[in-house]
Amino acid sequence: MKYEPTIGIETHAQLLTASKMFCKCRVPPSSGRGRVPLSHRRDSMDNTPAPPNSLVCPVCLGMPGSLPVINRRAVEYVIMTGLALNCQIAEFSKFDRKNYHYPDLVKGYQISQFHLPLCHDGWIEIQANGRAKRIGIHDVHLEEDTGKLVHVQGHSLIDFNRSGIPLMEIVTAPDFASLEEARAYVFELRRMLRYLGVNSGNMEEGAMRFEANISLHPVGTTTLGTRVEVKNLNSFKAMLRALEYEIQRQDQVLADGGTIRRETRGWDEARGTTYVQRGKEQADDYRYFPEPDLPPLEIKREWVEQIRSRMPELPHERRSRFTSEYQLPSYDTGLLTEDRSVADFFEQAVAAARPKGIGPKVVANWITGELFHLLHAANLEITASQASPEQLVELLVLLKGNVINITTAKHVLKVMVDTGGTAKDIVTEEGLAQVADRSELSSIVDEVISANPDAVAQYKGGKETVLRFLVGQVMKATRGKADPNLAADLLKEKLCGD
Ligand code: ZN
Ligand code: MN
Repeated sequence: MKYEPTIGIETHAQLLTASKMFCKCRVPPSSGRGRVPLSHRRDSMDNTPAPPNSLVCPVCLGMPGSLPVINRRAVEYVIMTGLALNCQIAEFSKFDRKNYHYPDLVKGYQISQFHLPLCHDGWIEIQANGRAKRIGIHDVHLEEDTGKLVHVQGHSLIDFNRSGIPLMEIVTAPDFASLEEARAYVFELRRMLRYLGVNSGNMEEGAMRFEANISLHPVGTTTLGTRVEVKNLNSFKAMLRALEYEIQRQDQVLADGGTIRRETRGWDEARGTTYVQRGKEQADDYRYFPEPDLPPLEIKREWVEQIRSRMPELPHERRSRFTSEYQLPSYDTGLLTEDRSVADFFEQAVAAARPKGIGPKVVANWITGELFHLLHAANLEITASQASPEQLVELLVLLKGNVINITTAKHVLKVMVDTGGTAKDIVTEEGLAQVADRSELSSIVDEVISANPDAVAQYKGGKETVLRFLVGQVMKATRGKADPNLAADLLKEKLCGD
């Protein structure tokens, strides 16, 4: 019998607030913040890691008698996410205590939301296997992060800097029917959260963590099989590998005539396998009850509308606008809209390029080609590069006007990315203007001809591809500054002349 999977995904996403969820402690800076678009960065955010247990107070250390206060910005971010995910925004919401014991959970409970989450019953559209599909969003709720255990040389150390960072949990319906759909979802969700500026999307920093539930059922049937939960999936890769492994494992158990046990499994990154953490009989009883130290939240509709009015264009909206407005192929559109700051850069460049008669496709090619290449090589975000959209366009104007050739243009762009400056200044300072003067280039061509008698003889003997070599020699003699088309014309004229 052939089986197909049913998958649901829970995502924990740290919110990019300046302070923690229930106290005034600063959210620890992390290298992840360097990747946040400049427009979302605050001055207080630097990249220097804080010493362990330096960003703590009685509230996030769970001292008896301390009282939590709700971070308004965190609530706003969750509502904004809920709106982006087409959710209903609750009129009344409350916090609950989720009781469990673990060394990183300082109070012995986590303040979370159980009965009345801030957002519920939404959906997100994903593109997988060449078609669009709606994935249901069960709810989006707000909670607090735990501390972090660090295991060194047989000791376990704990850092409470992370304790109390606002954590948003996004729970989907079990709507994924394949690995491809799950993959499409997590990538689209990350893009969306980054566009909204509510999460850094930095997986290495643990800014997004996943849990998944998976069951198999015979193809063509609708009754769901027994589901298994997999926890501690701290990257896209871990999540997708764990799903793949778990689908195969369950398939094998069923093929061997066995039954799937309802259980919670962990992910062993090193071995690439899931393992039993606990069975149904040891299922957690979190003994949820309303958090007595916090008032219930009444979410005024005017507030929701205010938040809605401040929402940026979402990735899928921008993708379809880029396709229709700039007539770009979907491949370009995908690359340009992956990151909001790249999309902004592109649109600013297009606006500057239009009056100069340079079209969006040329701009797109330079950004997704040479600029991406340079940024990648320098491990830079586009916002950290010194090249402005306007200067990229100035460079394209010089190229279009034949002042510089393409090799020089690439070099100038590199200088612009590294150290800034205008295209014109760099060309002047480095003496990079193209040798496009006929008489000047003519004498260089003469020298190349007399210095390469063999190649010349081959060319005259009918081997036309040698021309490329000779043009290369002219480029070399001018240190890349010759107009290659003019050089080729001059060579042809002179070689056919006698
Ligand atoms: Zn604190
Ligand atoms: Mn949670």
